[in-house]
Amino acid sequence: MRETRDVLISGGGVAGLTAAAAFGAAGFSVICVDPAPPVTEEGGAGADMRTTAFLQPARRVLEEAGLWSRLAPHAAALKIMRIVDAGGELPAPRIVKDFDAAEIGEEPFGWNFPNWLLRREMVARIGELPNVDFRPGVATRSVLTRQGEARVTLSDGTQVATRLLIAADGRASPVREALGIGVKTIRYGQKALAFAVTHPIPHDNVSTEIHRSGGPFTLVPLPDRAGKPCSAVVWMERGPEALRLAALDVTEFETEMFARSAGLFGPLTLVTRRSVWPIISQIAERFEAERTALLAEAAHVVPPIGAQGLNMSLADLGCLLDLARAAPERLGDRAMLTAYHRRRWPEVKARVTGIDLLNRTSMLSARPLRDLRAGALNALYSLAPVRRTLMKAGLGLGR
Ligand SMILES: Cc1cc2nc3c(=O)[nH]c(=O)nc-3n(C[C@H](O)[C@H](O)[C@H](O)COP(=O)(O)OP(=O)(O)OC[C@H]3O[C@@H](n4cnc5c(N)ncnc54)[C@H](O)[C@@H]3O)c2cc1C
Repeated sequence: MRETRDVLISGGGVAGLTAAAAFGAAGFSVICVDPAPPVTEEGGAGADMRTTAFLQPARRVLEEAGLWSRLAPHAAALKIMRIVDAGGELPAPRIVKDFDAAEIGEEPFGWNFPNWLLRREMVARIGELPNVDFRPGVATRSVLTRQGEARVTLSDGTQVATRLLIAADGRASPVREALGIGVKTIRYGQKALAFAVTHPIPHDNVSTEIHRSGGPFTLVPLPDRAGKPCSAVVWMERGPEALRLAALDVTEFETEMFARSAGLFGPLTLVTRRSVWPIISQIAERFEAERTALLAEAAHVVPPIGAQGLNMSLADLGCLLDLARAAPERLGDRAMLTAYHRRRWPEVKARVTGIDLLNRTSMLSARPLRDLRAGALNALYSLAPVRRTLMKAGLGLGR
């Protein structure tokens, strides 16, 4: 069977589903395929236990996609980013610095949501759009591009001709591979544990990043759970240590995470399962090919520091949408895709480089280097203009 669509999105992860809603809301005909049906309940097998902190600029894209009104009731606002250095002899806080969103504007830095809930609301939104066809259980099999269209063969035998193929099929993107676009990858030998906890001391909408060695331990606010303050945790460690922690029984794990959290929120109670994620940095050599745009992790992957990953992806999407709406008749042509690559690649490259540096700094285990790190945090923080510039840069806002 042969079909025609304006846009084919390969991949229905959080980025692909957002792209489907956004291009659909903009009036384009869209098909989105993914071999893995989305898990839309926290307790579902294979549920994504990560959360996403959407930063301020992401909100525009979510609003335009008709997603924000669905998500807002579930949001936990992030008003302060607290950085704690616990790199001294004992795992106790020795430097605590608050980056306060109120210093740069009225809005919080962003809003945090569980990824399974994002998928639930995104699938529901797509269901409202008659011009968006979401086909879970179907994969992209092969791709052939021509100047005027991409021809995509799906795993159910359907052939789709499309003006714009969006590769949102993850860090090992089959579309990127099929088109022969190389990647530069950095491996850290590090993994992240992602889970949620409740705790007796309220988070007060503060996101707290605690540095010692092995990588940061970050608590990001979630709405209260069963009347108790609740946070999402991302705990990064060298691979073997992360696997040891993941295999501990719950009581032992809670003891270890209480120590690693420097006791800042009181005893932490594990309320979800622990999921383990390998940590890499990666950037594709280019973000476009004939009739094709790479989006999100198909284009770039960063360690989960400063909530940059999916926020960069929504910036990719915002850029693609702006170009598509400015000249819909040129959707997916060479000029549009060249402009996309030129606008996004240098910005993404700078962020990948910056986050790589932050991650290496956070992994330091030698005491003198940890002391240097603490000194650098003090120095950067004490200069108010530098502090404000760092906050804006982290959000992806201009000076
Ligand atoms: C622990 C952790 C915490 C994070 N926290 C944050 C945060 O707070 N803020 C933030 O911005 N980012 C965060 N990130 C990053 C963010 O989670 C990722 O950027 C995002 O989930 C990646 O989404 P994606 O849709 O690009 O990829 P994926 O979720 O990997 O989706 C790719 C999809 O493509 C599908 N696929 C594979 N093969 C095919 C095929 N042949 N055809 C069609 N589809 C295919 C897959 O089934 C999959 O569903 C975090 C990451 C980690 C590891």
